[in-house]
Amino acid sequence: MMLDADLPSAGTSGLERLDEVAKLADEAARSRDTAAFYAALRASDLPFLLRHHRDDPAGLFATTVSALHRLGESSPAIALGVSQHMASMLAFGLARSLLGDDDSSSAVVGRLLDEVFERRLLIANTTSHAGGKKIGAAGSRIERIDDAFVVEGHSTFMSLATEADKVIFLTRTADNNLVGVVADLADPALRISEDLLFGEHLALADTRKLHFNKLTVPKDNVIGPDVRLNVFYNVQLIAHNLCVAALYLGGAFRILQEVKRFGRETELPSGSKLMSSESFSANVGRLAIAYSSSLRLLLSASRTAEDLYRAPSIDQRAAGAHLLSVSSIKYSVARQIEFIAAEGRKLIGTRAFMGDHPVARIAAEVVFAALGPATEKLIELNVGARYLEA
Ligand SMILES: Cc1cc2nc3c(=O)[nH]c(=O)nc-3n(C[C@H](O)[C@H](O)[C@H](O)COP(=O)(O)OP(=O)(O)OC[C@H]3O[C@@H](n4cnc5c(N)ncnc54)[C@H](O)[C@@H]3O)c2cc1C
Repeated sequence: MMLDADLPSAGTSGLERLDEVAKLADEAARSRDTAAFYAALRASDLPFLLRHHRDDPAGLFATTVSALHRLGESSPAIALGVSQHMASMLAFGLARSLLGDDDSSSAVVGRLLDEVFERRLLIANTTSHAGGKKIGAAGSRIERIDDAFVVEGHSTFMSLATEADKVIFLTRTADNNLVGVVADLADPALRISEDLLFGEHLALADTRKLHFNKLTVPKDNVIGPDVRLNVFYNVQLIAHNLCVAALYLGGAFRILQEVKRFGRETELPSGSKLMSSESFSANVGRLAIAYSSSLRLLLSASRTAEDLYRAPSIDQRAAGAHLLSVSSIKYSVARQIEFIAAEGRKLIGTRAFMGDHPVARIAAEVVFAALGPATEKLIELNVGARYLEA
């Protein structure tokens, strides 16, 4: 029984080097050295799937989900870093029907994509959230000064921090309008914090704080102020939630594979294989059901996002409804992933913590599964409020 048979394989356009890159992710997770992995990733087309599937939404979403699931099998933390780039590429693909073809906002996106494809760049993204004691407080502000824009403050979360070439982020003007910014991470007015935000579990996601020290951005690298960015905000959350669910589900799949291997290799005191025990089979069945139904949910979230990609235009209502649907799926899938991680680890027992066992490492990396953009509580809150109002 092939549980992940619905995912496109390495033979699909853009995924040709997926197996090789995933193997290097495994080695990077073991050695904690990601240099060879990132060199192979950039040389592959995995970060540039949008170029292969610009007019093929089904292919674009399916290959993105498949690539992140596969990298998540090696290391959810590494895949989380990579997902920041890949989700941004999905969001820019989705932005086509939002921004149209020929205005200054779409020109900024067009130029960025051309440069990313041509120079094989990786892009990080960050929120303007300040962290600290007040939820949702803005950490940065943007101001127009003559022909340029100036950003001050900080953002709290930026994964892929020391590997990415560029960062994109949304911030606000003093009168609360959203503005999108593209900046080179080598700009001396940007400072990436030395400290990792997640030292233990998710160190390989390389998540750090970003400081803006009067970052001056020419208007060619700025989108807005543009009211359509409110819709784009939802669109990029859709892309992120889909990617986060895909990569963590990959981690759960790996745990399931390791449980299977354990059952096949380990002997009971009677001398028969552990997998011949009925209780072990039933326990594995519980995890396989959780995984395969989550994969179906994930693929339906992917199709929801495809529908948005195909839409001739996107308004706030449509984007909001799609976001609620994709977020709810991420929520349910994340719960199943956490269940698979906890129960899978217990089936292997102490041995899962001996040596450099992937199950202990991956189980630690997936404790964050329900987090990411649109956190658990906010999803419950949005769904609950809509249900009560309807
Ligand atoms: C490993 C990791 C990497 C990340 N990388 C990036 C990145 O590269 N780029 C990026 O932009 N972001 C990144 N993020 C941030 C992510 O996108 C979210 O913005 C962030 O996780 C939200 O932070 P928080 O969980 O502290 O939620 P907060 O919004 O700060 O909320 C804190 C808690 O309060 C709850 N809560 C919030 N509002 C309410 C409410 N109204 N009522 C009741 N409860 C509420 C939340 O559910 C949560 O449990 C990353 C996050 C993680 C964990």
